[in-house]
Amino acid sequence: MSTIDRQRLLIDELSDRRLDALIVTHLPNVRYLSGFTGSAGVLVIGPSVRKPVFITDGRYTSQAREQVENAKIVISKGPALDAAAQALVMARVGNVGVEAEHMSASLRARVKKLLPAKIKLKDTSNLVERIRLIKDAGEIAAIERAVLLGAELFVVALKAIKPGAIETDVAAEMEYAARKRGAEGMSFETIVAAGPRSAFPHGVASAAAIPERGFVVLDFGVILGGYCSDMTRTVHVGKPSLEARRMYQAVLEAQLSGIDAVKSGATAGDVDFACRSTLRRAKYDRYFTHSTGHGVGLEIHELPRLARNQEDRLAAGMVITIEPGIYIEGEGGIRIEDMVVVTDQGCDALTPVSKELVVL
Ligand code: ZN
Ligand code: ZN
Repeated sequence: MSTIDRQRLLIDELSDRRLDALIVTHLPNVRYLSGFTGSAGVLVIGPSVRKPVFITDGRYTSQAREQVENAKIVISKGPALDAAAQALVMARVGNVGVEAEHMSASLRARVKKLLPAKIKLKDTSNLVERIRLIKDAGEIAAIERAVLLGAELFVVALKAIKPGAIETDVAAEMEYAARKRGAEGMSFETIVAAGPRSAFPHGVASAAAIPERGFVVLDFGVILGGYCSDMTRTVHVGKPSLEARRMYQAVLEAQLSGIDAVKSGATAGDVDFACRSTLRRAKYDRYFTHSTGHGVGLEIHELPRLARNQEDRLAAGMVITIEPGIYIEGEGGIRIEDMVVVTDQGCDALTPVSKELVVL
């Protein structure tokens, strides 16, 4: 889908909501609608704006000229939002949307002050994010490349994990390998959580040493070509007890039943329910303390949210994670996470890594 097609979808949406324009301040949305990858830019777009206006500052003059598609480029000396307000006055608009979740109260007040009283600011939520829900072929290809690079880091981690190794050392090896392979960065702080720390669902790598025996949760992802990857594997150091194997098998079965439930038309809640009921049969459901998954794209956490009773319907082209886990305080935790693309019949798995329990 071209930049103009994306802009067109948004303009139609704005028309439906009787908004003459939208001030796009959330950078992933600016990137999606203009192609600009820099870290300062605002886009003014809408049915009453003849051509979208992209505003940045002098640091990004040449980058904007190179990247921005189908928008008038304004290099602003002052704050970008002041120039955005000016563009709105010129466009003679009435109702102007702002991205409420991405604009502070003080910035909103500032914009309001710069506009004549007849221009009304309206809070909007997720207008661009809802368009970003369905990935086009180019985006899916970019996500696949990020997922493949991310998957290589699991092999790197397996070499680094041994009793006595420090969690941050394992994370460092993974992150170095990611950069050497061309990643722009990590999608989020790498999680390496060993032994009792594996029971922390968000156990960012710490100074703790990997114990002689226990689970190690590895949750990590890279950014490549602007798109994120996200995967989790749990390995076991030393011989796992029968109970540890039983726990692992329960999470694996829950994750597989979640993947089985994914298809266009199913609700996000259906997928969550599939994971939870499989864990319930194994009597571990009360240890599954977070939601089942999330969309991934230009951002690591996007719509849809896969959680209990979520009524949002999945549709072909969405890219989501399925990541049930169980966490037993003082003992350990297990999570298994893959990314999949939703299709009409089901889904295509993206993460190319076995989920059999690895014992190190
Ligand atoms: Zn993850
Ligand atoms: Zn995730």
